[in-house]
Amino acid sequence: MHVVCSDLEGVFVPEIWINVAEHTGIDDLLLTTRDISDYNVLMKRRLSILDANGLKLKDITEVIATMDPLPGARAFLDWLRARTQVIVVSDTFVEFARPLMEKLGWPTLLCHSLTIDNNGVITGYNLRQHDGKRKVAQAFVNLNYRVLAMGDSYNDITMLKAAHQGILFRPPQAVIDEYSQFPVATTYDDLKEMFSKVLAAD
Ligand SMILES: [Mg+2]
Repeated sequence: MHVVCSDLEGVFVPEIWINVAEHTGIDDLLLTTRDISDYNVLMKRRLSILDANGLKLKDITEVIATMDPLPGARAFLDWLRARTQVIVVSDTFVEFARPLMEKLGWPTLLCHSLTIDNNGVITGYNLRQHDGKRKVAQAFVNLNYRVLAMGDSYNDITMLKAAHQGILFRPPQAVIDEYSQFPVATTYDDLKEMFSKVLAAD
C-alpha cells in the first residue's frame, strides 16, 4: 500500500506569499525562507508587515482566491489520486490554502493554522508541530505504508529523506546539487512516468 506525501506550493500551486506581495505591492512580503532561514522570525516579520499595512485575513484570502493551481496540476493530481492515496503536506496555513484546495478538488491537507481575532486581524500563527513534514512521512512509514514524497525545495528535504522514495519537482539548482540522491521531475508527465514505475514495482 502506497501513500504519496506531497508539498503544495511550487508543486501544485504558485508561492502564496509572493503572489500576495505582488498583488498588494508590498515588496517586504517577497522575503522567503531563502532570505530569512528561521521560519518563526520570517512569519513574525510577515505578520508585522500585514499589521503595519492594515491588512486582515480577508485581504489576503481575496488575493489567494484570484490564484489558480499551476497549469496541469489539477489533472495530474486527479490522475495520481485515482491510483493511490495522496496527502498534501504544507508549511502554509489552512485559512490561506482553502480557496486553492477547492480548485484542486479538496485533497487532504496537513498544514498549520492562524489565530484570527474578532475583527479578522491575523494575530498569530500555530505551527502544528516542529518539523511537521518529516513527521507526516515518518508516521505513514510507521503505519506500514510505502511512502513516496515529493517537493520542490529545502523545507521538503527531511520529508523526502523520511520517505521510502523522494522526488524533487522543479527544484532550484542549489537543491539539485546538494541533494543529488533524489530524482528530479520538471513536468507532470515526468511525475506520471516516475509514479507509474514505482507504483507498479513495489
Ligand atoms: Mg514548496
